[in-house]
Formats: sequence, C-alpha cells, structure tokens
Amino acid sequence: MTLDRDAFYIDGGWAAPVGSNLLQVVSPHSEEVVATVPEGSAGDIDAAVAAARRAFDEGPWPRMSPAERIAVIEAFSGLYAARLGEMADLITLEMGSPTSFSNLAQAPAPWMQIEAFLTIAREFPWESTRVGNLGTPVMVRHEPVGVVAAIPPWNVPQFTIMSKVVPALLAGCTVVVKPAPETPLDTYLMAELLQEAGVPAGVVNIVTAGREVGEHLVSHPGVDKVAFTGSTAAGRKIAAICGQQLKRVSLELGGKSAAIVLDDADLAKTIEGLKFTALMNSGQACVAQTRILASRANYATVVDALAQAVGAMVVGDPADPATEIGPMVAQRQQERVEKYIALGQEEGARIVTGGNGMPEGLDTGWYVRPTVFADVDNSMRIAQEEIFGPVLSVIPYDDVDDAVRIANDSDYGLAGTVWTGDQEAGLDVARRVRAGTYGVNTYTMDFAAPFGGFKASGIGREFGAEGLGQYTELKSVYLEG
Ligand code: NAD
Repeated sequence: MTLDRDAFYIDGGWAAPVGSNLLQVVSPHSEEVVATVPEGSAGDIDAAVAAARRAFDEGPWPRMSPAERIAVIEAFSGLYAARLGEMADLITLEMGSPTSFSNLAQAPAPWMQIEAFLTIAREFPWESTRVGNLGTPVMVRHEPVGVVAAIPPWNVPQFTIMSKVVPALLAGCTVVVKPAPETPLDTYLMAELLQEAGVPAGVVNIVTAGREVGEHLVSHPGVDKVAFTGSTAAGRKIAAICGQQLKRVSLELGGKSAAIVLDDADLAKTIEGLKFTALMNSGQACVAQTRILASRANYATVVDALAQAVGAMVVGDPADPATEIGPMVAQRQQERVEKYIALGQEEGARIVTGGNGMPEGLDTGWYVRPTVFADVDNSMRIAQEEIFGPVLSVIPYDDVDDAVRIANDSDYGLAGTVWTGDQEAGLDVARRVRAGTYGVNTYTMDFAAPFGGFKASGIGREFGAEGLGQYTELKSVYLEG
C-alpha cells in the first residue's frame, strides 16, 4: 500500500495543492524514500486560514455547547484508540522513533491527552457567576480565542499536535496545523479520524510545509493565536511576530534538564530511570535529562554504572521491538550530534562510552553511538546547549546546594528529576529547581497537570485545566443585582 499523498486536508475535504513541490519522507534507518506528499506554499496556508476563519466566524463549531463539542471529541477518541498501532508504525517509519517508544508514548500518549482533556472539559467552568465586590453578580465566560495556528516539531509529532488541537477544539476554536516537513504521515491518519468523528468542515485544516511558509501562517492576519512547539531560536522569532501583532502565543521550547542523584538513591533503580529520562526517543526529547549530577563522593560509581548501562543499550532498526536507541531523524541531526561529541572532547570532557563513528553492525541510517561524557564542567557547551541526541554529561557537585545551583545554571527550565531514598529531601530539591515539571524518583508526564517551561524553555502551559484555558478569552459580564 502506498503512503503517497497528493492533497491537503482543508475545509473538511482533500484539496489539491496550489504549487507542485513535493516533500520526500525518508526513512532514517534505510535512507530510502518511503512516501511523497505535497509541500505547502503560502497559497495553501491562505486557503486553510480562510476555511478556519469561515468555520469560526460563521460555522456551527464555536456556537455549539461545550457538551456537544465534547460528544464529537469522544467519538474522535474512540476512533483514535482503535488505530494506535497504525499511528505508532507511521511515526516510527517517518522519524525513526524505536517502536518500543512509539507504542509506549508516540501513539498512546496523544490518546491519553484526549481523554484527559475530555475529563477536564466536562468539569470546566465555561460560564460561572460570582458575587462581585459591589455586591452584584458578575458572569465570567470562557470564550474561544479564535483561529489557532498549531505548529509542532518532528520529534513527538502527534503528542505536540494533540496538546494543541484537542483543547482548541473543546474550547470552540478552529485550527490550522502545520506539521514539520519530516513528519506529515501521522497527520493524514489524524485527518481521516477527525473527518470520521464528524468534526465539521473547516474546523481543522492541515498543510505540511517548512519554516518560511510556517512564518507566513504565524503572521497571517486571519490567525488569532499561535501555539508552537520547537526550538528556542524559532520560538523567539515567532514571539517577536506575535508581539508586533498582539497575537496570543504559547511556546513550548527547548531544554537542558538535570537529573540530580543524591547519595542515598537506589543506584540500580536510578540508572534504570535515567536510561529512560535521558535517552527516551533516542535522546530526541525536549524533557531529556541529559545533565546527570552526582556528588564527588559518589561520582565514579555513578559514572561507571551509567557507562555500563548506556554502553549495553541496543542500537538499531527502530522497527525491531528490541531496539532502545534508533537513528537520528535526519542526516543533519546526525552531523549535529557528532559535532557535539567532538566538541565535548575538545572542551576536555572524557568519553566513558560511545564516541563518534557508526554503531557496530550498522552501515546505513543516521545513527550515532549513545555517548556518556565524564569530567564535565557545567560551563562547557555540551552542558549548556541542547544537543537533541543520545549524549549525556555527568557533572560532579559538592553538596545538595551546589547540585541545585548547577541544575539552575542554565538558560532553560523545562524539566528535571531528583533520585533519592528520602522523598522529603527530594521534594525540597523539587521546590528549589526552576523548571516547569519535576520528578522525584520518576518522570512520567501527567496530562491532568500543567506542562511547560521556565526561562528560555517557553511561555504558557499545556495540559490540565490551565492548558485548556490557553485557548479561551475571558469575558466578564456585569449584571444588575
Ligand atoms: P524547529 O524549531 O526547527 O521546528 C519546529 C516547527 O516549527 C516545525 O514545524 C518547523 O517547520 C516550524 N518552524 C521553524 N521555524 C519557524 C518559523 N520561524 N515560523 C514558523 N514555523 C517555524 O524545531 P525542531 O527541530 O523541529 O524540533 C526540535 C526542538 O523542539 C527542540 O529544541 C526541542 O527541545 C523542541 N521541543 C520542545 C517541546 C516542549 O514541549 N517544550 C516538545 C518537543 C520538542
């Protein structure tokens, strides 16, 4: 069965592209073209925004009751749940996520998000009345923010689309999604499911395109809000445009998170946990905790255990269920990670496992060897910059205060963990690290709670009632007593 496509999902149907450029979806494992899809141009974005605008200004969706919209999203959730395996396979094919991760997170987590948002929407105070300070009633309404531009990255495509599209839809907004050029295939399946669920025409529109066309969408006068996940560099550009136009904007950006290993941590459990929190999705994760902080007393033990565990991880074909580390998404990403591995050596850090060169037994595919650096100082570029690959830095600390200081010595503030035998001591650290999410002996995202970044990791929050609220405007209606 071919995965090739020749149209965009616009206004509830399949629209021929304005231009004739094609995007090739290339398997990061085989380096072969697995599908071609149209590449969107400014004209396609204009058509998508016009459809979304019409659906918002004149269509039924924003005028339906929250309960009516919830019923449609419930139907979508049921359809989505039935296709999780297919979704996982598409994502593994297009961007090389190990199938174990695709079946654990890439497909099921978006579905869990839908369910979590449904629960929140059923209880959400869409319209409430309070007694004001004049003693008279005031009605406070959550109204939809309008036409939303949703711009996701390639690393967790459905995860970052659903975190925007579902709350936007529940709030009564209409949406234009611009998927990353590396990962269009999952969005075609999503479009089919939205259509089948009965989401009205123009409420969701999807045009895959690159950066320049993405910027056209961001600055489009028909768009009321931009919801972006991606690099901090692109986030700054998008925020500048939105600032100029006074558009609502939420930004989920990069990270360089730290995992703090306290001396009383259970070492085996900690190393198992770190393999996941630092290296999930082959290290291509915004929340990856790639700075491992260990006390000077415990340093050699942590470095040895980590080197052994990471060195033993299975690297290879992402379609193989045994694979723990797959290829990088693209050749440019492989080159970027290799440059950082070389840079770490130049900066004086010591490789204890991995290093540059293809992993054993592989001669095609954009692979890198999972690498652990010891003797890393937090001022080194490998400790400050987001590498976005399987490269870890183990950094020594003097005491807990020093560990917290190092964790906070970063432009970013997205995530983090502390590993300890004492939950209270862990909570104390959690309170002191400036990051949007934090885990004590675990890092499992919970979609009932807000997620997002401090500092250069972003503005705004996704998930939870707070994440739904980002798609609403508040209106106060003053009433007579
Ligand atoms: P990227 O910023 O290059 O691209 C992200 C998306 O934005 C793509 O769809 C791209 O086409 C588009 N884009 C890029 N520049 C744009 C512009 N000026 N105007 C409009 N659209 C533009 O990032 P990437 O390489 O695809 O993704 C990796 C980055 O995403 C990492 O920095 C990672 O940390 C971050 N990320 C963050 C989160 C989070 O929730 N905080 C989640 C996943 C990924």
